[in-house]
Amino acid sequence: ILQLFLPLNFLGMVYREVRRALTDIENMFALLKKTPSVKDAPDAKPLEVSEGSVEFRNVSFAYHVERPIIRNLSFRVEPGQKVAIVGPSGSGKSTLARLLFRFYDLDGGEILIDGQPIRDVTQLSLRRAIGVVPQDTVLFNDTIFSNVAYGRPEAAAEEVHEAIHLANLDHFIRALPEGDKTRVGERGLKVSGGEKQRIAIARVILKKPPILLFDEATSALDSATERAILAALNKLAKNHTSLVIAHRLSTVIDADQILVMEQGEIMERGTHQQLLAQNGRYARMWQLQQNTHE
Ligand code: ATP
Repeated sequence: ILQLFLPLNFLGMVYREVRRALTDIENMFALLKKTPSVKDAPDAKPLEVSEGSVEFRNVSFAYHVERPIIRNLSFRVEPGQKVAIVGPSGSGKSTLARLLFRFYDLDGGEILIDGQPIRDVTQLSLRRAIGVVPQDTVLFNDTIFSNVAYGRPEAAAEEVHEAIHLANLDHFIRALPEGDKTRVGERGLKVSGGEKQRIAIARVILKKPPILLFDEATSALDSATERAILAALNKLAKNHTSLVIAHRLSTVIDADQILVMEQGEIMERGTHQQLLAQNGRYARMWQLQQNTHE
């Protein structure tokens, strides 16, 4: 009996690993929209995250040599801090996220997590350490419950329910005929962008990665949805080191540090209050968004 049971158990484990890898790969492709070309170093070691600090040190990068995208850029996210990246479209915000995930190698400088250059660690361990809430989450053709459970397939049902609750999905689920057993995805119930993003947040809450990367959707959301996402995000960001690519400044007000990007460089940095007082680019962006809201 043991002989029969062991391989089955092993297969179950492999299956769970493959499912988890698939979620990560989907997140990856959502960010990247292309096949990764980066290879592990022959002596690559697993990343060991103790506190979760992230540092970009003199980072330069170009997709094509003739057109530099990130220029000698440095910043540091202390463990548990929330850093927001803002700036006009095309300034390089998503590129920073892709570089942190090491979809591309740098042309100069380094990116360190707890002092370890990400170039030297295995890609699997790197991507395990980072939870991504992409702009556009891919949902599997499965129930909402399972879609959340993909975040950590071995989690207990209560943990999945807790994640759903923390992601502010209770209200949404209560209105569905089959609750969290409702099927979603291409062949199931169509869910809105805001709901998808909260499902992604629930997944990451379950995954509990030490580092969090939130790519805010560019599409406009109604203010109730936006508040629900923000509340869910803030719960998630607590006790995590988080990087937020923000399109709405309402998301960044409480950030420990805001980086204002323009053409691959950080032009201003500080808290919301400090940047308003500087009366520069950020203050103008803020003024502009206030006017639009009115
Ligand atoms: P948005 O707010 O619109 O998402 P962003 O600040 O995130 O913009 P990035 O996506 O980082 O900007 O893009 C920075 C620049 O790099 C842009 O000019 C873009 O055209 C270019 N770029 C992005 N991805 C690629 C790619 N795969 N190959 C070549 N150039 C790219």
